[in-house]
Amino acid sequence: MAEVLVLVDHVDGEVKKVTTELLTVARRIGEPAAVWIGDGADAGRARLAEYGAAKVYVAPAELGDYVVAPKAELLAKLVGDTSAAAVLVSATAENKEIAGRTAVKLGSGVLTDVVDVTAELVAEHSVFGGSTITHAKVRTGVPVIAVRPNAVTPEPAEGAAAQEDVAVEVSDAAKGAKVVERVAEEKGERPELTEAAIVVSGGRGVGSDDFSVVENLADALGAAVGASRAAVDSGWYPNQFQVGQTGKTVSPNLYVALGISGAIQHRAGMQTSKNILAVNKDPEAPIFELADFGVVGDLHTVAPRLTEEITKRK
Ligand SMILES: Cc1cc2nc3c(=O)[nH]c(=O)nc-3n(C[C@H](O)[C@H](O)[C@H](O)COP(=O)(O)OP(=O)(O)OC[C@H]3O[C@@H](n4cnc5c(N)ncnc54)[C@H](O)[C@@H]3O)c2cc1C
Repeated sequence: MAEVLVLVDHVDGEVKKVTTELLTVARRIGEPAAVWIGDGADAGRARLAEYGAAKVYVAPAELGDYVVAPKAELLAKLVGDTSAAAVLVSATAENKEIAGRTAVKLGSGVLTDVVDVTAELVAEHSVFGGSTITHAKVRTGVPVIAVRPNAVTPEPAEGAAAQEDVAVEVSDAAKGAKVVERVAEEKGERPELTEAAIVVSGGRGVGSDDFSVVENLADALGAAVGASRAAVDSGWYPNQFQVGQTGKTVSPNLYVALGISGAIQHRAGMQTSKNILAVNKDPEAPIFELADFGVVGDLHTVAPRLTEEITKRK
C-alpha cells in the first residue's frame, strides 16, 4: 500500500487534533506516514500511533527554526524517496504556503481548504457560504491537499508509529528566512479557537469592549470565543480571536454569531461550521441566509437568557 504523508501540527510535542483528522483521511487512501518537524517527536509519537500512523519520519529539529521553504523541500524529498500517493497538510496559512511550494517542486496539482477527501483522492470543497459543494481531483503529479481543521471527525486506529530519522540537505536559498522569536498566544481556560467544537463569536452588535455577554455564553457551552473584524478593529477583542478571511478559519459543530452581519469575509472563516446559530436584531442581516437557526432580537437580551437556560440545564 502506498504511503500518504501527513505533516504533523504540534506545539512542543503536543499533537494537534487536526493531525488526527488528517491521519483518519490518510488511512482511506493508503498507509499513513506522519512527518515530524521540530522537537518533541518522542512525546508525540504515542498519539500518532493511536490514529494509525504506520511510520513517523522525523526531520532534523533545526528545520523547525526556519519559515516555510525548508519544510517544502523536506516534503518533496520524502515524496521522491517513498513514492507517496499523496501529501496531506492542515489548511492553516503557513501550511497552505508549504503545500503550494511542495506542489511546485513536485510539478503536482494542489488543493486547499478542502473539507473531505475520498479513498480515490476526490476532494470536497464547500463554497458560496456553504450553499454549494464542489469536487475536484488533482490530475498531475502527487496530489498535495490542505484540509481544513474540524472538517473531518477523527477516528482512532492502532498504528506502529515506527520512527525513521530523515537526513535532508536544505538549500541555502530555503534557509533565507529564519524564525528569531516565538511569542506564545495567551492560553486561557477556553478551548483553542480553531479546534473548538463550539465557537461563540461577537461582532459590532456587542457594542463595546465589554465582551462578557459573548464570553458568558461561551463558558456555559464550553466553547471558544471568536470575534468579527469590526469588533477586533474597534479594539474590543484581541486580534488572535478574529474569524474570517484575514483571521482564523473555524469549522465547529456549532457556531454562534452574536451581532455579526455575515459579510463575505467573515463567512470565509466559518461557513463550513456544521450548525450556525445567528442572533441579530436586523431580520434582513445576510447572516440569516447562512444560519441553520436564527433569532431576531437584541443579543443583550437573547444571549444572557440562553446562558441562563443552558446553565440551569447542566
Ligand atoms: C480584505 C478584507 C478582509 C476582511 N477580513 C475579515 C475577517 O477576517 N473577518 C471579519 O469578520 N471581517 C473581515 N472583513 C470585514 C468585513 O467586510 C465586515 O466589515 C465585518 O465582518 C463586519 O463585522 P460585523 O458583522 O461585526 O459588523 P457589521 O457589519 O457592522 O454588523 C453588525 C451587526 O450587528 C447587528 N446588531 C447591532 N446591534 C445588535 C444588537 N444589540 N443585537 C443583535 N444584533 C445587533 C446589526 O444588525 C448588524 O447586522 C474584511 C474586509 C476586507 C475588505
